[in-house]
Amino acid sequence: PISRIRAKGRNIRVIVRVRPPSNREQGENFSNVLKIVDDSTIVFDPKEENVPFFYHGVQQRYRNLTKRPNKNLQFTFDRVFSHEACNNDVFECTTKELIKTLMNGYNCSAFVYGATGAGKTHTMLGRGDDPGIIFLTMRELFKQKDELSQERHFEIEVTYLEVYNETVKDLLNPGPALELRENGQYGVIVAGIQVHRIDKSEKLFDLLEQGNKNRTQHPTDANEESSRSHAIFQVCLRMKIISTNEIRLAKLSMIDLAGSENGAATGYSGARFTEGVNINKSLLALGNYINGLAHKQRYVPYRDSKLTRLLKDSLGDNCQTVMIANVSPSSLSYEDTYNTLRYAIRVKSI
Ligand code: ADP
Ligand code: MG
Repeated sequence: PISRIRAKGRNIRVIVRVRPPSNREQGENFSNVLKIVDDSTIVFDPKEENVPFFYHGVQQRYRNLTKRPNKNLQFTFDRVFSHEACNNDVFECTTKELIKTLMNGYNCSAFVYGATGAGKTHTMLGRGDDPGIIFLTMRELFKQKDELSQERHFEIEVTYLEVYNETVKDLLNPGPALELRENGQYGVIVAGIQVHRIDKSEKLFDLLEQGNKNRTQHPTDANEESSRSHAIFQVCLRMKIISTNEIRLAKLSMIDLAGSENGAATGYSGARFTEGVNINKSLLALGNYINGLAHKQRYVPYRDSKLTRLLKDSLGDNCQTVMIANVSPSSLSYEDTYNTLRYAIRVKSI
């Protein structure tokens, strides 16, 4: 028997993370377009120009370089993180909370959303001295697994795939495109994907690094290491409660979404433009799908993209979702930041 315990509280949370300004953004032409008011409130393009913002002890200004009227828009999210937050701070308030839900047998998902260069991959994967939330989440999962080992028997399997141009590829076993199939028992499955059983977080670093090398990357004008693919890391948890023989299945999906920048605005053309369109289409489909669920629409259009098909059973009523919207503080990314905050608030106002 598979039992499910109702998840409590709202099932989607939206967090904004502002990354530190890059070297380039700290030059003469830098101006900060974000003001964090408190833990959950952020102002885009604030009016006041005299509010000091310090970065590495140097006061930066909210200069209006374009002389256009300031938008001065205030947004409230479940949480806002400044450039001072490390990945562990983000983890503590996002995916750490999902683990309890997962242990109760519910599917969960975590997305990082934002333009290329906004800090999505840094949040997911991080680096040696600041590991990302995938690693921190898995470490916590293994810790809780060990604590429960007297009561439960666990099997943990992971897969890592990418969706690029509506094509699904196994990042841990590169090869031809994989098909999605509907399966009565498991929902949508990826036929032929390689599944890795792991029981320690140490092995994960190598696995992720190996997978990331296989991601499809094309240089664009916007950013040399632009990533136009969605990378999906999935953890399948099978738990057997020893005293009752009850079996609980749960899946955690962590998704590094493709850059949300507008294809047309970043100078793509020809083949690259089609990519841009496909990416926007799937991000649009994702937003529509989440919105449809929220409004209890009878028909929620998950068939619109591979991304929503893959995540159909990880979003919605019996699932818990967190979206981390990554933004740059710089006026150089003015439009991207504005669009990201608007997308994120639309997801939140559910
Ligand atoms: P994206 O995946 O959204 O395109 P990246 O995660 O690759 O963006 O970030 C772009 C650059 O900014 C990288 O060099 C990354 O190391 C750096 N960066 C992003 N977020 C942070 C952060 N919170 N702290 C320090 N460096 C960051
Ligand atoms: Mg990236």
